[in-house]
Amino acid sequence: MIIKRSSANYVGLHMLYHRLPNEHSMKTVINSKMLSTKAGIIGETVVEAIFEKYQFPFNYRVLHDVSLISNGKFQLDTLFISPYCAVILECKNIVGELSFENDPPCLTRKLQNSQEDTFESPEVQVDRNMYLLQEWLKERGIRIPVRGVIVFSSTKSKIVKPPNHTEVIYASSIPVLLRNLKTHKDYLSVAQMDYLAEQIVQDNQTYFPYPMCPKWGIDPTDLITGVQCGNCSRYGMIRIKRTWLCPGCSYKDLDAHINSVKEWFMLIGDQLSNSECRRFLHIQQHQTVTRILQSMGLTIVGEGKATKYKMSEKMLSGHKNFYMDRKEIIRS
Ligand SMILES: [Zn+2]
Repeated sequence: MIIKRSSANYVGLHMLYHRLPNEHSMKTVINSKMLSTKAGIIGETVVEAIFEKYQFPFNYRVLHDVSLISNGKFQLDTLFISPYCAVILECKNIVGELSFENDPPCLTRKLQNSQEDTFESPEVQVDRNMYLLQEWLKERGIRIPVRGVIVFSSTKSKIVKPPNHTEVIYASSIPVLLRNLKTHKDYLSVAQMDYLAEQIVQDNQTYFPYPMCPKWGIDPTDLITGVQCGNCSRYGMIRIKRTWLCPGCSYKDLDAHINSVKEWFMLIGDQLSNSECRRFLHIQQHQTVTRILQSMGLTIVGEGKATKYKMSEKMLSGHKNFYMDRKEIIRS
């Protein structure tokens, strides 16, 4: 059983990055966040591949990208449930010479070119996740020991100073670690493991990062507007009769506006007015925008001049990029 991972955050950052003008003060911040999210996806893919390849000599369930709430929200990269214990695998994809520092707790990284960076302590993250998962299990009357392990997906991560009490392994050691879990005491039967996994799936909170601008404190009027060309990626396709034409490469597309309207909801807000849409798509005629928005199956709120359009989370989640192909992200 595997919960499909969402790529929504990466997709949102990618869109935001490309709609920000080069000179914008947030462009570098969004770029580095986008790259670290991508590195995370690469790490997760390495771990997922291990679970596809290896089998373990006892019953178990694996859940990826679990978001739950107990005494606080928490997100688990991978949760391995066995009859003997539950193991949280916190995946990290940080290369370089790594030191787990204590005062204050953080992870420092030194690269070959002497560049130094500081990250949130994975040990603190694991401790917090273990505590919150234990609370979540307790609320449901499920008794099972919880273990937490930090997993580095690449051997290019050299641990110079390990953490105080948390186990650290490379992804390639996951099969050995999990194979040795077997103990004399079974806490969960197969039926109880299924029950636990079902409860997690039911309680799992889909992470929905949209709209991106308010989240990052970016003024929506700073964004580059216009319909994007599906061929050359430039913004500012021109509406001619009932189609869109790219002035850069002459590509024509009848439905080019659809992605841009979706982008508006992913980046800017949850209620779109006719005039906001005209400005974003570069359309003069009120009537044309009304026709476009009405054809998209959006929810209509208000009447007359106050009419606004809403796109449901379900519709946005159904966007082709929400579960964007991970291989495609890694290549991009
Ligand atoms: Zn073009």
